[in-house]
Amino acid sequence: MQYLSTRGQAAQKSFTQILLGGLMEDGGLALPLAYPTLTAAELTAMRGMNYRELAFAVLSKFADDIPAADLQALVDKTYTAAVYCNGRPDSNAEDITPLREIEPGLFLQELSNGPTLAFKDMAMQMLGNLFEYALGKSGETLNILGATSGDTGSSAEYAMRGKRGVKVFMLSPYGKMSAFQTAQMFSLQDPNIFNLAVRGVFDDAQDIVKAVSNDLAFKGKHRIGTVNSINWARVVSQVVYYFKGYFAATKSNSEQVDFSVPSGNFGNICAGHIARMMGLPIRKLILATNENDVLDEFFRSGVYRPRGSAETHQTSSPSMDISKASNFERFVFDLVGRDPAVVRELWAAVDKGGAFDLSNTPYFPRIEEFGFVSGRSSHADRIATIRRVWEKHQLMIDTHTADGLKVGLEHREAGAALVVLETALPTKFEETIVEALGQKPWRPAAFANIEALPQRSTVVDVDVQQVKDFIVANT
Ligand SMILES: *Cc1c(COP(=O)(O)O)cnc(C)c1O
Repeated sequence: MQYLSTRGQAAQKSFTQILLGGLMEDGGLALPLAYPTLTAAELTAMRGMNYRELAFAVLSKFADDIPAADLQALVDKTYTAAVYCNGRPDSNAEDITPLREIEPGLFLQELSNGPTLAFKDMAMQMLGNLFEYALGKSGETLNILGATSGDTGSSAEYAMRGKRGVKVFMLSPYGKMSAFQTAQMFSLQDPNIFNLAVRGVFDDAQDIVKAVSNDLAFKGKHRIGTVNSINWARVVSQVVYYFKGYFAATKSNSEQVDFSVPSGNFGNICAGHIARMMGLPIRKLILATNENDVLDEFFRSGVYRPRGSAETHQTSSPSMDISKASNFERFVFDLVGRDPAVVRELWAAVDKGGAFDLSNTPYFPRIEEFGFVSGRSSHADRIATIRRVWEKHQLMIDTHTADGLKVGLEHREAGAALVVLETALPTKFEETIVEALGQKPWRPAAFANIEALPQRSTVVDVDVQQVKDFIVANT
C-alpha cells in the first residue's frame, strides 16, 4: 500500500514511512492511493472475529510493509481486556469497545474504557506500540512534543510511558485543566514523560509547539515528532471499532447501521468514512458538533469557514472546542473526486485564514452519496440529554456523548440501527454532570484517589527558548 498526499505534489510513501511524520512535504495529508475494499466473503468472515482479529484484518490492509507476525503481535499486545478495563461495572472488557443497547435499535458504543477514559486511547495505545516497534528496528529515538488542553496529552503520555526510544514533552496551560485531567498527567512518574505547565492559555502552548517545529534545524537535531490527530496510524486504528460496532448491532451483513459521532478535528468520523469506503454497510455518518459548529455549517451549507481563537467558544464539551478541523482535508479530497489541484486551490484560501464555498459546485450534492449528515448541540441540550438518559435508563453519559446522542436522535430513521459513539466517561467532566444530575458521576475504581497522588511538572513562561532549553537538557 502506497500513500499519496491530498495536495498531490509529495512523493508516495509506505505506511512505516509516514508513521513518524506529520504533514506530507507539500503540506497535504497522507491517504492510501486507493481504499482497500472487502469482498462479501471477507465481511462474512469478519463477523465472527474478536477485536484483535478484526484489528489485524483491517490494519494489515493498510500497513502491509510490517511483517504479518509482527503486526499481529503489536495488535495482540494493544487490544487486551487489561488495557480497556475501566468501563462501567457491567461492561465486558473482553469486547474492548462493548456495545450497550439503550432501547431497541439504539446503541452506545463504549470507546472510553482505556487508560485515560477517552476514545483517543483506542488509537494512541496502538501508536505507542507502533512507535516503539519502528524505532527499535531503525535504532533511532524520538522526542514527542505536544500541547494539550486535556484529553490528548494524557492519552499520549499513557501510551508512550515506559516505551523504549521515546520521550514525551507535553505542554499544558498552567492551572487551566480540570483537577482530574491534571492529576492524570502530572501523577505519572515515568522518567520518559515530561509535563511542562505553561504560564498562559492553550493557544500559547500550541504556538510554542509550532515555533519549535518550524525551527527545522532544531527539529532535526533533537528528533522532534508529534502525535497529533492528523497522524495516519491514529486515523486507521480507529477504523476497527466501526467494524466491531457494526457487527455487534446487526444480525447479518444485509442490514445497515447509522453512526453518530461527536466531532472536533474530524479524526473519529474520518475513520467511519474510511470504513464505509471499504464496504462496511454504514448508511449514515451523523456528525455532531457543539457550539463550535464549523463542520455542521459545512455539511448544511457547503461553506467551510474555520474560525480564529477569538471566535472559538469555551464549552462544556471542551474536547470539541475546535474551529479548524485538521483531518477535514482528507474527506474533501474524496469529495472533489481525489483531484489534488482542487484541494490545493481550496486550502490556498484556508491556509491564509479564509474560507471556501462548495454550494454551487457539483461536489456539494455528493455529500449525500458519502452518507454525511450533521447537527449541533448546545449546553442546554447537553444538560437535558444527560438528564433524560439518566431518568429513563439510569445511565450516566458524558457531555460529548450527549452531543452525539442529541444530534443522532434528530437524524434517526427506521430501517437502520443507530450507534452513538461514547467518546469519554462522565467522571472526566464531573462539574457538568453535577449541574445536570445534582450528584457526582461514578468513577472507575482505579481512579478513586487520583487527585491525591504526588504530582510532577515544571512550570515555564510563554517562552520558546525556555522550552527548547528544557528539551536539550533532558535528551
Ligand atoms: C477528541 C475528542 C472528540 C473529538 O474527536 P475528533 O476526532 O477530534 O473529531 C470528541 N470527544 C472527546 C471526549 C474527545 O476527547
